[in-house]
Amino acid sequence: MASTTALSPEILAKYEPVIGLEVHVQLQTETKAFCGCSSRFGAAPNTQVCPVCLGLPGALPVLNRRAVEFAALASMAIHCQVRETSIFARKNYFYPDLPKGYQISQFDKPLAEHGWIDVPTPTGTKRIGITRLHLEEDAGKSMHEGFADSRERTYLDLNRCGTPLAEIVSEPDMRTPDEAFEYLTRLKEILLYTGVSDCNMEEGSLRCDANVSVRLKGAPKFGAKAEVKNVNSFRFVRAALEYEIERQIEVLESGGRVLQETRLWNVNEGRTYAMRSKEQAHDYRYFPEPDLPPLVVSAAWQAEIRAHMPELPEARRARMVAEYEITEQDAQVLTATRALADQFEEAAKASKSPKRVANLVQGEIAGRLKAAGLELAQSPVTMRGIALAADLTESGELSSKLLKQLLDRCFEASEDFSVVYEREKPQQISDASVLEKMIDEVIAANPKQVEQYRAGKKTVAAFFVGQVMRMSTGQANPALLNELVTKKLDG
Ligand code: ADP
Ligand code: ZN
Ligand code: MG
Repeated sequence: MASTTALSPEILAKYEPVIGLEVHVQLQTETKAFCGCSSRFGAAPNTQVCPVCLGLPGALPVLNRRAVEFAALASMAIHCQVRETSIFARKNYFYPDLPKGYQISQFDKPLAEHGWIDVPTPTGTKRIGITRLHLEEDAGKSMHEGFADSRERTYLDLNRCGTPLAEIVSEPDMRTPDEAFEYLTRLKEILLYTGVSDCNMEEGSLRCDANVSVRLKGAPKFGAKAEVKNVNSFRFVRAALEYEIERQIEVLESGGRVLQETRLWNVNEGRTYAMRSKEQAHDYRYFPEPDLPPLVVSAAWQAEIRAHMPELPEARRARMVAEYEITEQDAQVLTATRALADQFEEAAKASKSPKRVANLVQGEIAGRLKAAGLELAQSPVTMRGIALAADLTESGELSSKLLKQLLDRCFEASEDFSVVYEREKPQQISDASVLEKMIDEVIAANPKQVEQYRAGKKTVAAFFVGQVMRMSTGQANPALLNELVTKKLDG
């Protein structure tokens, strides 16, 4: 790390960081934005190309309807207004991975504008504005490493050329690296829920450029910003912003001036480097794309797209808290992905105690996952398994000690709870005389409850069943036990 530690908290406190993020997200269409080539990730280099995406003379683009629908759905999910008529534009620049010499994008009339996302802050929530969402195509990939002659040569893979992207540009509304982290987390969650992208950062499906400046608190204008590129995880975005904020403050404190420039994040060194200054900045010479007509997304089409909007994470969390009497924190964990939330709801509906399901997830399961280095989605114990465990614990058939043992077995053997339980569940006591003796004991010890039962409060029977279950450490045959308890109490 560079020597940014010299800054005292007092000096840092004089400044206010200003952050705006630009997120590129690949849309999960089968084919590319303007041709029929597959846009699947991972194919052999240069096998998914054609005259259109290679930009050969005379080839004409045809817009992929699905890309528009995904982009419009994403726009609506982040509360943007979708324009009826948007315009494609050419963004001209020269780079080896861009064979056409321009990228088809949108400029002054983007697909959607004026949106927002609410993000949690230490004191509540904060609304972060979204300037725009526009459609564009991806470029190819330059490969600088991994070949025997990589020192002399760069290779090109043009498979990615023409993959549809949505670029989502935020307002400069964030004030801390944590807010930026939360914004990205929420945005990704929404994009995943809507199903428009797999948001796989390792494969480059989601990429973020972070713009940041600092100003003296109360200053009327923003300072000059740096744009940090090449940051491939949200944690690194946060780290890059933290670094960059201190760097800029240090420059200002030592009487210098922050240059408006593009910088690169170097993950190994944990710092940013200048890449190009404003003077060297691209002039993209945008002009309307002559080969594509204006994109018209009529009100009727918009309504059709909106009809496919799933319940979004925030709304789902609120509903789950109300419906299953779980905490905000439970809901947070259980809605991390749509699949997980679906599984939980399925389990919660099948279980007598959704809250107990949630507690198990947060406690016994989370602890074992952490120890095994697994995500919840990779748990050997499914939500249905957890529901079964919850119900068996609730009914007293399973002591907490035995539950822990069985869960340990699940993780050792990588088996679901139902499998392990069936195999290793305690021997059942089905001998009526043994159970009757226990019931007599419990009845003798609880005269008040017996009185209640005989006065007509029949539900008290469950109390006796639970007591005997515990006494037998879950081994009592539940059906027989129920029958005998009622008989004894009635008799
Ligand atoms: P550029 O012209 O460099 O592309 P834009 O105005 O298009 O800049 O903004 C790009 C991104 O940078 C947006 O996310 C915006 O919120 C953010 N941004 C703009 N000005 C600043 C600033 N002074 N400090 C931090 N972020 C900024
Ligand atoms: Zn093609
Ligand atoms: Mg810009």
